[in-house]
Amino acid sequence: MRILITGGAGFLGSHLSDLLIGKGHDVIVMDNLITGRAENIAHLMGHPRFSFVKYNVCDYIHVDGALDAILHFASPASPQDYLEMPIATMKVGALGTHKVLGLAKAKHARLLLASTSEVYGDPLVNPQPETYWGNVNPISPRGVYDEAKRFAEAMTMAYHRYHGVDTRIVRIFNTYGPRMRPHDGRVVSNFVVQALQGKPLTIFGDGSQTRSFCYVDDLVRGITTLLLIDSDKPVAERTNRARFLTKSTQPLPETIHDPVNIGNPRELTVKGIAELVLKLTGSKSQIEYRPLPADDPKVRRPDIRLAKQLLGWEPEVELEDGLRKTIEYFSQVVSD
Ligand code: NAD
Ligand code: UDP
Repeated sequence: MRILITGGAGFLGSHLSDLLIGKGHDVIVMDNLITGRAENIAHLMGHPRFSFVKYNVCDYIHVDGALDAILHFASPASPQDYLEMPIATMKVGALGTHKVLGLAKAKHARLLLASTSEVYGDPLVNPQPETYWGNVNPISPRGVYDEAKRFAEAMTMAYHRYHGVDTRIVRIFNTYGPRMRPHDGRVVSNFVVQALQGKPLTIFGDGSQTRSFCYVDDLVRGITTLLLIDSDKPVAERTNRARFLTKSTQPLPETIHDPVNIGNPRELTVKGIAELVLKLTGSKSQIEYRPLPADDPKVRRPDIRLAKQLLGWEPEVELEDGLRKTIEYFSQVVSD
């Protein structure tokens, strides 16, 4: 397949590029580098099946030749980034999504949208199944990201229903691993870098809020499975519907085009993550408490029964193992 990855110079997009190149596909990365880094894809430069275009995907997108699939990953993703770039975040979620869907329609290409667990907002249901509609405050600072992604999902479903574009939506939960930026403000990168540098670990609030962390290799494996699964058969034929319905109360989606959660269901408090990072790094750093940001979700944990049944996917990397790899990565890129 010839695949366009928007945001491909970012954390997740660069790992997806590696995986898809490794599977023998051709990959074009389109990225304006506002939060991504050329060094994430430097090792792919010069590869005969890889190319990079520096471009803002909110503008009209032209790609020469045939295109089989588009992965729309362009968007600031860490709270620090999207709070610093609220308008750019809303534009890439709205205008950027419109442009890639138009391109998918013109090229008869499959489109996979990177959505997020933030569509569930500060959830009143835990864990969150895909059928939960969420609890989002549209006018809070975080709303710029949540609403951009909710709009992007709605636009994607509209292109599927109205124009027949073959679309997929993945709702990604907190993911960590090598190539996160050391100072992107996310909890794992912050805690690991702080621990390695002997600085206090900054817990926002009292640290009782929860998150569930997926190692990047698990995540990109799930996403590529969703991308590559055939859409010509009804969902019921691809999975054992009867078995699924007896084991779970969650209805199977009518189509492959409905959103699928991908994440690791092991749930920890933020304080628990801080303690684990201190243990694994052997750091003597103290803990420092800071104010909780507005509308910070109190709980988050994916219900992944659908991904298991539909894709045969579940995470394999234990948090401790993934954190060790992440600590090793950060210990090479940050100085004391
Ligand atoms: P990232 O910031 O590392 O990567 C995003 C990339 O998009 C960057 O390279 C950035 O330069 C690029 N970009 C932003 N606006 C653009 C524009 N207008 N035109 C072209 N390129 C643009 O973030 P990430 O963690 O790799 O996230 C990738 C995607 O996955 C995002 O859409 C994000 O919302 C989604 N997601 C990530 C997580 C996570 O835990 N990492 C969780 C949920 C959803
Ligand atoms: N957090 C924290 N200290 C930090 C960074 C984040 O306590 O230095 C908290 C944050 O308030 C949230 C959780 O960790 O409750 C996860 O934050 P992150 O920015 O990684 O992603 P989110 O899940 O909020 O999008």
